[in-house]
Amino acid sequence: MLKDVIIIGAGASGLCAAIKLKQQNSAISVTILERLPRVGKKISVTGNGRCNITNRRIALDSYHGEKTSFAEFALKKYDNRLTEDFFYMLGVPFVFEENKAFPASFQASSVVDALRFAADELGVETLTETRVTDISPLKSGYKISTDKGVFEGKTLLVCSGLYSGGEKLGCSGDVPAILKRLGYRAVKATPAIVQLKTETDVVRRLKGIKINALARLQNNGKTVRKEFGEVLFCDYGLSGPPILQISRNASRLEGKITVCLDLFPEKQGNELLEELVKRAEILKDRSLDEFFTGMLNKRLGQTVLKLCGLLLSDTAASLDIKALKKVCDLLKGLEFKVTGNTGFINSQVTAGGISTAEFYDKTMMSKKHKGLFAAGEILDIDGDCGGFNLQWAWSSGMCAADGIIYYLKEKK
Ligand SMILES: Cc1cc2nc3c(=O)[nH]c(=O)nc-3n(C[C@H](O)[C@H](O)[C@H](O)COP(=O)(O)OP(=O)(O)OC[C@H]3O[C@@H](n4cnc5c(N)ncnc54)[C@H](O)[C@@H]3O)c2cc1C
Repeated sequence: MLKDVIIIGAGASGLCAAIKLKQQNSAISVTILERLPRVGKKISVTGNGRCNITNRRIALDSYHGEKTSFAEFALKKYDNRLTEDFFYMLGVPFVFEENKAFPASFQASSVVDALRFAADELGVETLTETRVTDISPLKSGYKISTDKGVFEGKTLLVCSGLYSGGEKLGCSGDVPAILKRLGYRAVKATPAIVQLKTETDVVRRLKGIKINALARLQNNGKTVRKEFGEVLFCDYGLSGPPILQISRNASRLEGKITVCLDLFPEKQGNELLEELVKRAEILKDRSLDEFFTGMLNKRLGQTVLKLCGLLLSDTAASLDIKALKKVCDLLKGLEFKVTGNTGFINSQVTAGGISTAEFYDKTMMSKKHKGLFAAGEILDIDGDCGGFNLQWAWSSGMCAADGIIYYLKEKK
């Protein structure tokens, strides 16, 4: 049977678009094809199971892509306030931690349930365990081949996401491959919001330590991005919010890539040096293995001193100004050579994707194929950590729903 709308993927953008379509016109037939046994699998693991559903400070500077301005229209038309209204009407009020919004239940699974209930109540047909294997444009509409048979739609909305989270969350990259076969250009995909691997000799010694620091991402010695927050040392490298934020850039750079940690960003170098000089005087009889006790994480302090070539069995009296300057420089710039990242499977979002140049920003419709729409992560737009990616899924999904309604009306 020819459906009005076929949606590939019952994730954030697909479910949101399906609900919006039926809310606007209950008469149109909407079918979602989802390869996993359950809908919204990825939503249910977002925000460590709490779902950071949007952010109060949605602005284009938190988004990335070859042409970031593509996202502007959708993000403005369906902004975070409208997301809040949308979910309120589905029974999910928001609460805020600083600018980050969460469902009041703090349960990501409840967001999936609310979307699922609304889609069912509105008459959206959802077919799970149905994997799309091909798309063929017809004279008027699209033939969608799946492992459960063939479907036909007057319009097609592609909401299949990309690679982040891996197969268990439904991400395999089969739909981007189909779109490439149909002639769509793909912008190189790399993991973003992901832990960074570094040379391991130092981080291994610091494993488990969390410290507030300013993380500077440097490429061939030039600072590319800096973020402040809690950095976590791991046996493979670095993690924590500032590292996740800079990881997008790190994954896409070539040449020498380093993360430089400023452990005392609130102090200028000369101020810190003065403090160290004073400290060495006051604690002159103390052995160096306790020199930083009370000022810095003990193990981290000891590691910094060792990296400066100092003997922990010596006393602070042995620290001359040259040695203190070296210690100070390291505290202001503890450098780690980046060797990679922990991969798509551990990343929260994929940078890159199907080029937005092939789509209209106001309707999300393809410029190549009339009646074919795309929304969410599959497009070359990704956001920073903090609710920005789900907001893109909601905004682009709702915008696509408007585009489809308009297209179907015009076609009549
Ligand atoms: C661990 C983790 C935590 C995250 N936390 C947050 C957070 O707190 N806040 C935030 O804003 N963002 C977060 N994100 C990112 C956010 O979840 C995604 O950006 C968002 O879900 C993308 O929505 P989407 O609709 O484009 O794709 P998805 O939600 O990935 O949905 C795509 C759907 O398409 C289905 N599909 C794929 N291929 C096929 C096929 N061939 N046939 C049929 N179906 C198919 C998949 O099974 C999937 O259900 C997180 C991501 C991860 C992995």
